[in-house]
Amino acid sequence: MLSMLCALCGCGAPQPVHREHFAMGTVAGITVYNTRHAQYIDECFTLLNELEAEVSINVPESTISRLNEAGSAQLGGETDAAKILLAADRVYTESGGAFNAGILPLQQLWDIGGRSDGDPLPADDDIEQARQLSLGGFDIGQSGDTVSIKLGEGHGLDLGGIAKGYAGDRCADLLKERGVKHALINIGGNVRTVGGREFRIGLRNPRGTADELYAVVTVGETNVITSGDYERYFTTGGERYHHIFDPDTGRPARSGLLSATVIGGDGAIADGLSTAIFVLGRDEGLALAEGMGYEAVVVADDYKVYCTGGIADALEITDDKFELVSP
Ligand code: ADP
Ligand code: MG
Repeated sequence: MLSMLCALCGCGAPQPVHREHFAMGTVAGITVYNTRHAQYIDECFTLLNELEAEVSINVPESTISRLNEAGSAQLGGETDAAKILLAADRVYTESGGAFNAGILPLQQLWDIGGRSDGDPLPADDDIEQARQLSLGGFDIGQSGDTVSIKLGEGHGLDLGGIAKGYAGDRCADLLKERGVKHALINIGGNVRTVGGREFRIGLRNPRGTADELYAVVTVGETNVITSGDYERYFTTGGERYHHIFDPDTGRPARSGLLSATVIGGDGAIADGLSTAIFVLGRDEGLALAEGMGYEAVVVADDYKVYCTGGIADALEITDDKFELVSP
């Protein structure tokens, strides 16, 4: 699932060290540019394991699984779970509910990863029921150092659309605390760069193999996070059913986009935003990114590429099947 080819520019750089590790349901790859820093990659992998144990819905004892079970929780404000939930709440509000961590009932009903091509779809009634249970997000409040969360009856949270972006920032902070100047963190195609040099980050062709790119974006220290309909899906009756749900329909989002990439400072927000943009579609999605101070690049289903004004000059289309439509 490593969906981006990433390279650090700069001649005469010391020999890079790259290691990979399976965590948070995907392959995480980290590159540092100094062999003495290799040990810190392993520390990051331990951190990813810890984050997975805290927020994954596939870990029965995780904070989020227990919250889903109990319907409410009080968390320390400094915990990773609380910070991710606060970010999720912000993107929920800003996106008018297009990003909704409360989609667990839909996620479980559709079980995209568990279905095979040709499998039947869930029944309309079941979709509508799960959709109703997904609406409204969740209640979250902060008092002093305590974050309180409350879910409606039958509701449940799934942080799969936001946790990897948060994890990228946590790894970046760890590496910087250890004195690492430059690094590249790739968690399942979500990229976090560390250091003020120029990084050229490949954007994956949404209809190609994992190493086929349609563009390269040149950035400094930031997040480059993509949501697409190609990460997890099955095909039935010639239609693709993928893992990003439109809370308005209860079905895989059909907004005319094949992928949405967000570039900007906060990893959790960028990750949530990329999912929201994929649901909202081109115009609303790009406007949302701009309004929140992030850049975005989207690929429409006719292979036309659209982006926010601030990133156009840094974007280079590398596959001539794709065409950048100037913002
Ligand atoms: P990926 O995890 O492939 O990088 P995303 O960041 O877009 O892609 O996250 C997709 C995941 O987010 C889904 O697998 C599901 O767990 C969750 N999700 C699906 N639809 C939504 C939605 N509308 N709002 C929030 N989370 C969602
Ligand atoms: Mg996301």
